[in-house]
Amino acid sequence: MITAIIDEPTIERLRNMINGARRIAITCHKSPDGDALGSSLALCHVLRRLGKDATVVTPDMAPKSLEFIPGVRELVVFTRQEIRARRVLEEAQLICCLDYNALQRVDRLGDIIAPLNAPRVLIDHHLGGDLRQFAAAVSFPEASSTCELVYRVLLQLGLARLIDRQAASCLYVGLLTDTGGFAYNCDNPEFYEVVAALLRRRIDRLGLYNKALDTFSEASLRLQGYALSEKMRLLPDKGCSLIVLDKAELERFNYSRGDTETLVNRPLAIPGIYWSVFMREDADHIKVSCRSRGDFSVSDICERYFNGGGHQNAAGGELHCSIDEATALFERVLADLFP
Ligand code: 5GP
Ligand code: MN
Repeated sequence: MITAIIDEPTIERLRNMINGARRIAITCHKSPDGDALGSSLALCHVLRRLGKDATVVTPDMAPKSLEFIPGVRELVVFTRQEIRARRVLEEAQLICCLDYNALQRVDRLGDIIAPLNAPRVLIDHHLGGDLRQFAAAVSFPEASSTCELVYRVLLQLGLARLIDRQAASCLYVGLLTDTGGFAYNCDNPEFYEVVAALLRRRIDRLGLYNKALDTFSEASLRLQGYALSEKMRLLPDKGCSLIVLDKAELERFNYSRGDTETLVNRPLAIPGIYWSVFMREDADHIKVSCRSRGDFSVSDICERYFNGGGHQNAAGGELHCSIDEATALFERVLADLFP
């Protein structure tokens, strides 16, 4: 049994908003991951089967590693097609916000969305956020993924029959990537009932697993090897690992987006290391990724120090400073946490 966790008034509002809209825009956060893309593309596919003119607009491009998700080629990418992205949003009669709960997570798309009159629907599993910005909000931080929530929403709307193999494949990618291959955030038995429902759509389970979690380019593997061998700094007395990659190192290994996606998890394999920080010098900012095990909350750290947030065990943020200043900030975090 899959419990109807979304309250009936919210479902009713969703139903009315979907019925009342012909053109629907679906958005997800920048640097979209498997859950953001999977949930957005699955919802888009189902809405199209319902006869809607639905389009997914993303703030920036999907990483190469996720190009296998069905429908990725039809994304309207703001950084690539600014005019078209703007038009899709401005003409939309309903805007769905998936896998984020604050407009700053969609970069400049947020400035376009904020003044629009079209009602906004949120489906998300992050902590915090200002839910008053949404005409209907499905926000469950305890959910494994936004993909799980999209499945539940469609089920409660009576639209699960429209989830075909393609939409099920999209949803499965988010379930896989946001749980590290059914490792964390998947204690709820109902999670596996959602998995079972998707398997019944005859998805290519192993193929999706291999593509989503076990495929890396040569450049990516070599960069990760270098990072672990040469750049991983362990602080065993603080249970911590830090990896910093600067622009020159990324260039040397021919870095492209997505190449370091799961690197931050690796140090947690070492007994005694329960939190891991990765800093990467991108074009105009330092991207910070944090992971932890158990009760140690990296979302608190990312909120307090790194202009970000996320979940207790997986969070991130951005710094607008030099890589040396970012490293110095990390030292201050250590000094604050372990006085
Ligand atoms: P990642 O480290 O893979 O980029 O992100 C891990 C988690 O933290 C994801 O759930 C992501 O949504 C969240 N996250 C990453 N970067 C940011 C950020 O800059 N701000 C906020 N609020 N959350 C972030
Ligand atoms: Mn997610």
